[in-house]
Amino acid sequence: MKRREGRAVTDRWDVAVVGGGIVGLATARSLLLQRPGLRVTILERAPGLAGAQTGHNSGVIHSGAYYRPGSAKARLCLEGRRRLIEYLEAKGLEYRIPGKLIVAGRPDQAARLRVLAERASANGVEGARWRSAEEIRSLEPEIRGVAALEIPGAGIVNYAAVAHSYARDVEDLGGTIRTGTPVLRASNTGAGIEIEHAGGALSARVLVGCAGIEADRLARSCGTDPAVQIVPFRGEYYTLRDPDRWGLSHLIYPVPDPTVPFLGVHLTLTLHRGIEAGPNAVLALGRAAYRRHEISVRDLAELALAPGSWALARRWGRTGIYEALRSLSRSVYARDLRTMVPAITDADLLPGGAGIRAQAVDRAGRLVDDFVLIDAPHALHVLNAPSPAATAALALADTIRDRLLHRRDLAL
Ligand SMILES: Cc1cc2nc3c(=O)[nH]c(=O)nc-3n(C[C@H](O)[C@H](O)[C@H](O)COP(=O)(O)OP(=O)(O)OC[C@H]3O[C@@H](n4cnc5c(N)ncnc54)[C@H](O)[C@@H]3O)c2cc1C
Repeated sequence: MKRREGRAVTDRWDVAVVGGGIVGLATARSLLLQRPGLRVTILERAPGLAGAQTGHNSGVIHSGAYYRPGSAKARLCLEGRRRLIEYLEAKGLEYRIPGKLIVAGRPDQAARLRVLAERASANGVEGARWRSAEEIRSLEPEIRGVAALEIPGAGIVNYAAVAHSYARDVEDLGGTIRTGTPVLRASNTGAGIEIEHAGGALSARVLVGCAGIEADRLARSCGTDPAVQIVPFRGEYYTLRDPDRWGLSHLIYPVPDPTVPFLGVHLTLTLHRGIEAGPNAVLALGRAAYRRHEISVRDLAELALAPGSWALARRWGRTGIYEALRSLSRSVYARDLRTMVPAITDADLLPGGAGIRAQAVDRAGRLVDDFVLIDAPHALHVLNAPSPAATAALALADTIRDRLLHRRDLAL
């Protein structure tokens, strides 16, 4: 990086966290709790915090049933869920634990559900229970299936509110937060890292990249090969008309497709008595393409040129075409939901919001399943923190912190 007008950077920090989503905020908090007095600053490009994935998700406190035993997702989801609930209790933040039913609509799905039940047990998820078709009906009169897995520990929360609470903790612990401050580039000086941002420049002993949808670009701008490309997958929601009519007391999920790291279109209770249906997973035509017609030529060109993109197109092809069709057609969306909720019609689905998942894709075109952290000189980049990273944030943050504190080059 060229220093502006050749002047030395006087704005100095121990740690600069890039990204004011739930992972960046939890990481700064964790560092400050462990090392009081550490000089930590957070740089967020948007005018407010938690406006990207953290503010556009389903708000589910996942219980850890889905993830491959031994994976970081499995371990950190369980630990993060426990810590999150303790935190919510301590701070008096609103949440509920209605539990969920993962519903098999057909016998072949019941076989896949058995595998999921084994995973839940291997991961130490408490209270998971197999339910028959009759039991499903008595638990949820509007839901049909040949079998279901009941997970009593699944909950709901507002993750944007949780992230804002982490931000207050950061400031109370002496950290600073700058919004409206996009990081433009960074360079390693040998002794640390210099960061050019929209408001000037600063130096830090270490940069922690928690930039979600921009994570790969941030790593590259710091001179690090991220080895993955971040691909945006939009998740679109509908809101159910007349939510009380369905009498739902659980979150209702389908059996997920084991070939993709998304959970399938589900019904989520909201904190204020609403019901959301979604999200689907549509390849978005831009990293900020919250709406269908939005396109970024730069993002598309980069995607087309990235190694792995064509392999991704081949792998994702059929599923992708179906997802795009379902995105365009409320009838197809409603038809899919009817496999679990037979009474649902198109008219019950009112347009809702959308979120954009930052999904890492490797050079072979595979959607990377687990969380990915990579170390670089004077930097650590979080390159894949998809769901359940909001649930897992407190535990993921401690993992990042420990990794930073144990690195000799940082000596924090
Ligand atoms: C549709 C959807 C549903 C989901 N449902 C759930 C769920 O129910 N439960 C769950 O646990 N998880 C869920 N997730 C996943 C969860 O939301 C994410 O894993 C989590 O929010 C990731 O947090 P983050 O801080 O890494 O990313 P983000 O929240 O995306 O934050 C990254 C931040 O970095 C900022 N940034 C980017 N580039 C720069 C730059 N150059 N300079 C400065 N700032 C920058 C962005 O503006 C953004 O604020 C869902 C995600 C989506 C999209």
